[in-house]
Amino acid sequence: MTHPSMKIKKHISLKPYNTFGIEAYADAFAILEDKEDLFLLQSLKEQYGKILILGGGSNVLFTDNFKGIVIHNQLSGIEILSQDDQYIHLKVASGVNWHSFVLHAIKKNWGGIENLSLIPGTVGAAPMQNIGAYGVEVKNVITKVTAFNIEKGIFEEFDNPSCQFAYRESIFKHPENKGKYFITDVTFQLIKNPTTFNTSYGDIQKIIDASQDSTIHLKNISEAVIKIRQQKLPDPKELGNAGSFFKNPEITNEETNILLKEYPQLPHYPLSNGKTKIPAAWLIEHCGWKGLKVGNTGNHCQQALVIVNYGKATGQEIKLHAQNVQESVLKKFNISLQTEVNFIPY
Ligand SMILES: Cc1cc2nc3c(=O)[nH]c(=O)nc-3n(C[C@H](O)[C@H](O)[C@H](O)COP(=O)(O)OP(=O)(O)OC[C@H]3O[C@@H](n4cnc5c(N)ncnc54)[C@H](O)[C@@H]3O)c2cc1C
Repeated sequence: MTHPSMKIKKHISLKPYNTFGIEAYADAFAILEDKEDLFLLQSLKEQYGKILILGGGSNVLFTDNFKGIVIHNQLSGIEILSQDDQYIHLKVASGVNWHSFVLHAIKKNWGGIENLSLIPGTVGAAPMQNIGAYGVEVKNVITKVTAFNIEKGIFEEFDNPSCQFAYRESIFKHPENKGKYFITDVTFQLIKNPTTFNTSYGDIQKIIDASQDSTIHLKNISEAVIKIRQQKLPDPKELGNAGSFFKNPEITNEETNILLKEYPQLPHYPLSNGKTKIPAAWLIEHCGWKGLKVGNTGNHCQQALVIVNYGKATGQEIKLHAQNVQESVLKKFNISLQTEVNFIPY
């Protein structure tokens, strides 16, 4: 079988391809820029055993070498499908950098994703875990996801309900779908010249009020979000990490009341599903992990939810550390933390 435009390289270090900066090797590695090459993926999967679709590598932890082929997504292009006075519909190729897309939308005055500024990674990975930040989730603006079914060799379309979006979840993240779909395009519905904004979360409004231009528009919301993120989150170029390592747990109201008796200061946010969301960062901090360095890893001093690589950590070391954090939270609060980061090999 020939691979027209995909050049397969053997025994490649994945260190430049993951924001944790973990040294792990892939048996084989190829860059995919042309949709035609998707039809080769099944045979490559058979040849190399396993397949991993990799975007920006900002939500993965390599716990071992990858015995299979890594396909690095570089599909590009933004297409306007339709528009009216209110909305614009855009089909964005999955390899487009997420933040560049956000900046493009802001420049055109299309609203809906400005609060999601500076999230690393690709457009194609955004529906994967339904990225969210500062009171907004990407599911609010996605109308369709197009994915190539590698086994069947066909393109499939998922409308918003079929994506089964939930908090940091989608159908594509389900264990049975790992390595099954290559998301090729995401269709967004953005608002043209928006007049309502979401500035209530965190310090967005405060930063805008304090700025010289206190009228609210997409650009200064984005700039406020960028400012907050740069202050709070470690830059992976300086300190390896994959953002939040754990999800914020949702517990029952009964469990919340029991905890509140012992920890009256516990932050808790009632949800519409009858459960209560607890910030994982608070739980981790109150187990003493915030800013604690353990060997080559530890929890960041500004944001306990972020586990960092101080330079030479292995994926196993970080995994073990994360397990210790989980165990201590379970022991102290009887809450089981779920990981947000994707462990590879899966
Ligand atoms: C500093 C920092 C801050 C972050 N902040 C946030 C935040 O605020 N909110 C948030 O939600 N996330 C955040 N993240 C996590 C991460 O940026 C997002 O999850 C992002 O969407 C991952 O994109 P990626 O292209 O890097 O995905 P990758 O890490 O390359 O892949 C992640 C998973 O998706 C799969 N995948 C990727 N592309 C495709 C595709 N085209 N088709 C099928 N499967 C695919 C991979 O196989 C893997 O399982 C942060 C990460 C960092 C490092």
